[in-house]
Amino acid sequence: MSRVFSGIQPSGELHIGNYLGAIKNWVQLQGQYEAFFSVVDYHAIITPYRPDDLRQRRHDMVVSLLAAGVDPERATLFVQSTVPEHTELAWIFNTVTPLGELERQTQFKDKAQRQESVSVGLLNYPVLQAADILLYIAEFVPVGEDQVQHLELSRVVARRWNAAFASEEEPYFPEPKALLTPTRRVMGLDGQAKMSKSLGNTVGLLEEPDAIWAKLRPAVTDPARVRRTDPGTPEVCNIYNLHRAFNPPAVVEEVATKCRTAGWGCIECKKVLLDGMNAELGPIRERAAAIRREPEIVHLALARGTERAREVAQKTMGEVKERMGLA
Ligand code: SF4
Repeated sequence: MSRVFSGIQPSGELHIGNYLGAIKNWVQLQGQYEAFFSVVDYHAIITPYRPDDLRQRRHDMVVSLLAAGVDPERATLFVQSTVPEHTELAWIFNTVTPLGELERQTQFKDKAQRQESVSVGLLNYPVLQAADILLYIAEFVPVGEDQVQHLELSRVVARRWNAAFASEEEPYFPEPKALLTPTRRVMGLDGQAKMSKSLGNTVGLLEEPDAIWAKLRPAVTDPARVRRTDPGTPEVCNIYNLHRAFNPPAVVEEVATKCRTAGWGCIECKKVLLDGMNAELGPIRERAAAIRREPEIVHLALARGTERAREVAQKTMGEVKERMGLA
């Protein structure tokens, strides 16, 4: 079975943007591939943070992932910093990665522009990402559109290391490929930008229905629907997009028709969305509550995942060091 690797930052509880954009897809992938899923906490420390806060966010992320359907019996779920080979391989990859390639990364340029002092960690972030993937000899990585350039860098790193310590005919590291799977780019409730905690436009995956409604009710819709009798264009409305994610096709069709013909008002439309969201998110909320009542579930899931991840990581590092004259 081919391997797939994917990581998520320990940003606390998931919101529906990460759930629809990535984690729902992870749940599908774990049945089709040998999946390694990591909470990448080393990636989270390149900007200032509070240690206790990081600990809590990491725990909350694991609870969310398990509640959303990541199954420790079918996927290897672990926290990056508990497998030290990630940073060990990243150092080795630093020695074959061209500086120019890192400086050209769009995300680095964007973030560096906004910071007074730029850390080497920010520059080297994609090298650690290459190590995350290649440590597990992963052939596939599910990527969002903003990650394509980083994946290309992982391919460059694999190629350069292979050229120095393996051969073109018999490469050691595979050049990981993008797994183009149906993921959604979810806009925030402000309808202005991608859903993101830092923009405060999210709906938490584990939020109670009342709290979700308090956010949905005032959420931005098609500006053409000023009065109840004004027809709208569902395709320009973020609420319609969410209907497509949470409701079956027949409901989505009804929503589109009633929007175009002014057959209902936006509040009625949002109530139908809330029902669809509750049907999918209710069981996830219940699972999260059960996991929180029994913290041993998190402990056991991570212990199992870390053991499996370390087994593969140690094998790779042993072979890498042998080829490099380090063992
Ligand atoms: S009726 Fe629904 S889809 Fe149409 S603009 Fe209002 S909220 Fe959006």
